[in-house]
Amino acid sequence: RAKQASGNQYCFYAESMDAEARRAMQVEQEFRRGLGRNEICVYYQPRIDTITGEICALEALVRWRHPAKGLLAPADFLQVAEATGLVVEMGYQVIDQVCADCARLTEAGLPDLVMAINLSRRQMRDEHLVQRVMDALSAHHLRGSQLEFELAEADVMGDASLATESLGTLAITGASFALDDFGSGMSSLPLLQALPINRLKIDQALIAGIAEDRNRHGLVMAVVQLAHSLKLSTVAEGVETAEQLKRLRELGCDEAQGFFLGSPQSMADILASLGRTSGHLPLGAS
Ligand code: C2E
Ligand code: MG
Ligand code: MG
Ligand code: MG
Repeated sequence: RAKQASGNQYCFYAESMDAEARRAMQVEQEFRRGLGRNEICVYYQPRIDTITGEICALEALVRWRHPAKGLLAPADFLQVAEATGLVVEMGYQVIDQVCADCARLTEAGLPDLVMAINLSRRQMRDEHLVQRVMDALSAHHLRGSQLEFELAEADVMGDASLATESLGTLAITGASFALDDFGSGMSSLPLLQALPINRLKIDQALIAGIAEDRNRHGLVMAVVQLAHSLKLSTVAEGVETAEQLKRLRELGCDEAQGFFLGSPQSMADILASLGRTSGHLPLGAS
């Protein structure tokens, strides 16, 4: 190990690594320290019913409050967390935080919001995950049906047997499941039919352009119909304009999420804005 080597040897080793590997090593060290110092926090983005404007769910999006660099998004650390396995401990902290925040929402008089939690491939493989979820639920007196887990299309399709097994195990908690980033890569349609999921989240790359591009519009319409014929609910990701929302509502897409409807924010800000709007967004005029 580098620490045991003499100073000179360490330098030589460090310099011979490429810049990317050195950056990853630094992120790993800082992230490991951050995990021990409560620097992991969770932001929430609302999922909105396209017809009523009601908030149906909040998606938990992890953030890292870095002492020097400020608030960091997953792009800055998730790859390293996944590669090193630190994502498992990060995930436990996210689950605990989400359950605590869910209990706060219930206390604030908003008991019906589902909390959606993203899971990576490494987390799916963790044999302690189910127990950790159960513990967090009971610590905060929550029902499993108040949680939904999001698994990315690439992770699920990349290892179908892992996904099937881990969904089967996690189902014990009573949580529901969404397939995230649908349409961003390759999906096996028989697998889509076989998976015990409740929802398809249509990738933001497909949503971009639905207002301008007829073919893109047709593609999203076909995805919504496919989902509905499999009895899956649909969520459009990355909705950035009123026009996109209008098209999605016409297509019968059930829910939408995106900067137009609300950016990820802290629970304090969520509670403040829900107090103002009583759980609805004023979509009627758009
Ligand atoms: P995702 O689950 O597909 O989440 C959607 C991402 O798109 C989020 O980025 C969100 O901030 C961003 N987004 C939302 N609305 C819009 C929009 O209108 N336009 C655009 N351009 N972007 C929008 P974020 O928070 O940086 O998260 C990135 C990814 O990191 C997530 O993609 C998810 O795969 C992963 N992730 C986030 N939190 C967790 C976590 O707690 N655990 C694990 N394993 N992965 C997580
Ligand atoms: Mg997601
Ligand atoms: Mg997504
Ligand atoms: Mg994603």
